[in-house]
Amino acid sequence: MDSLAAPLEVMARPQLDLELRGIRKRYGDFTAVDGVSLQVEKGQFVCLLGPSGCGKTTTLRCVAGLEEPDDGGILIGGNEVTKDPPWQRDIAMMFQDFALFPHMTVAKQVGFGLEMLKKPKVGIAKRVEEVLKAFEISALADRKPGSLSGGQRQRVALARAMITEPRILLLDEPVGALDYSLRETVMLELKLLQQRTGISFIWVTHDQNEAFSLGDLVVVMNHAKIEQQGTAEEILRRPATAFVASFVQGNNVFRGRVTGTSPDVLQVETSAGRFYVPRPPDPAPMLGDAVSFSVRAEQITDAPSQRQANRLTARCTAVEYFGAVRRHIFERCDGEVLKYDQFGAHAARIVSGQTVQLGWQVEETVLHTGAPG
Ligand code: ATP
Repeated sequence: MDSLAAPLEVMARPQLDLELRGIRKRYGDFTAVDGVSLQVEKGQFVCLLGPSGCGKTTTLRCVAGLEEPDDGGILIGGNEVTKDPPWQRDIAMMFQDFALFPHMTVAKQVGFGLEMLKKPKVGIAKRVEEVLKAFEISALADRKPGSLSGGQRQRVALARAMITEPRILLLDEPVGALDYSLRETVMLELKLLQQRTGISFIWVTHDQNEAFSLGDLVVVMNHAKIEQQGTAEEILRRPATAFVASFVQGNNVFRGRVTGTSPDVLQVETSAGRFYVPRPPDPAPMLGDAVSFSVRAEQITDAPSQRQANRLTARCTAVEYFGAVRRHIFERCDGEVLKYDQFGAHAARIVSGQTVQLGWQVEETVLHTGAPG
């Protein structure tokens, strides 16, 4: 038997809350999830981030047991559950629309999971009381979902999911239905709850602010595959592919061909000029190879000095002030957009319509390891 075909339990790591091993899900000819592998440590907050249709929800539904993958394995706490029904997995799920039962009181909804597990009635009543109190919804116990606000419905759905104390809570766009002002408060509450309980959260979102502020691990998906996974800082500062660099805020992406190499630096010719990027360890790109790279908007400076060896001249088309930063939108000579962020507390230096020289250091230039796209 080759190693790939070895039984899953042989190599299972029980210290992982969740392990996905190359899961693949097809709908007819269409592949919605394509060889996704992921390891979730105990008590991790993981955010699946990506554009609409990239396969986040399908991945989550495979973990939940609502879909069965065509290939690959799913392990929860080291046990293979790939073919197990949802109720035999140590998970709970919370949906964007909260999926509350319209005719059931709040108390009944919250106790539903324990009733399904056939727990003794007296024990259920006591536990429901505790959970209602913990989620500050005791006063709503006899109300039905129709008479609750969005925020209250969200709490009820969360209480219902958490009452069984699952190993993993799966959340599909859980704050998507809340208005913007409530979202931040709810997100902070959920993060604190997650830290207090030590339950792993797998949170699906297309909102990068949510993913970067909440996730211990951010998993960026595109076209059914994982493009990159890492901490928020790793993804923001070291995007691995042109897609990740373009998808996350604040990056400027360049594409070109290698026209010179030295032990430390690659010279790249692009439609916006010639630039220098740090040479990665071997196998590094070779002369003539197509590559892409990026630089973050806050690493750029106007009036560059000798240290900023990467330079270009561009025309400012707009200035946007956000308090923390002042964002300048430039048009590069090839017609592409370039973003330059200045610390918001500094006085404005550039006005719309002005042509300026901009620059950044070679070390701040990130060469993408994936195909240039
Ligand atoms: P969104 O953020 O819009 O919810 P997503 O990243 O969660 O997107 P999925 O819901 O996982 O994406 O869908 C991935 C792809 O699979 C989409 O193109 C979708 O149309 C397709 N898909 C999902 N479920 C089915 C199904 N039951 N039958 C056919 N195609 C499906």
